[in-house]
Amino acid sequence: MNIILLGPPGAGKGTQAKRIEAQYGLIQLSTGDMLRAAIQRGEPMGLEAKAMMDSGKLVPDSLMIGLIAARMDEPDCKNGVILDGFPRTVPQAEALDVMFESMGKQLDAVIMLEVDEPALIDRVSGRFTCAKCGTGYHDRFCPTQQPGVCDKCGSKEFTRRADDNAETMKARLAAYRQQTAPIIPYYDDCGLLHRVDGMAAMADVEAAIATVLQRLRRD
Ligand code: AMP
Repeated sequence: MNIILLGPPGAGKGTQAKRIEAQYGLIQLSTGDMLRAAIQRGEPMGLEAKAMMDSGKLVPDSLMIGLIAARMDEPDCKNGVILDGFPRTVPQAEALDVMFESMGKQLDAVIMLEVDEPALIDRVSGRFTCAKCGTGYHDRFCPTQQPGVCDKCGSKEFTRRADDNAETMKARLAAYRQQTAPIIPYYDDCGLLHRVDGMAAMADVEAAIATVLQRLRRD
């Protein structure tokens, strides 16, 4: 099963992808995470992308398509993937169709997390992640039980994304409206789009996604 999680920055794509990947034997492919890892390793591709990411702009299609095509070809992706953050433009969506076809695979569903834009800046501004195990938290909505200590692994080191601030978030939302939103009708027209209320509680969003995936498994 291959699915796309779609929605603006802060909609909860990464959180939900992590919750469902183990359950369904799928691999989360987050292009944002892949770019951040490339920056940390000091790879030329990461350095090329960094300035665009820091200003909230999209990285060029050619770079992103090459990145995801190489990753999808790796053996761990053979049972299926959850694409998180890709595609983000119509040319990326078209290239993804070609990729799936050439691999003899298919896209099964596009799950669109619908959210209220004004809530997103608040959601994103307080995000932080455990540097050791990757568990996500939020200053107000999901703090650690003990201040400064990861609930899951006990680490005291956390990271915050450079682009998770109100100013960059405005540019990221503009990029979503202008360049990513046009892929919604692209997938709606081929009957693959499923809309889920992304403003609901995390567990309820997860349940709504599970309902879609279980229906797909039965069909
Ligand atoms: P994300 O972690 O998905 O919020 O992505 C962080 C940043 O990485 C975005 O604001 C873009 O600059 C870049 N990025 C990630 N995925 C893509 C993509 N599919 N196309 C273009 N830029 C991307």
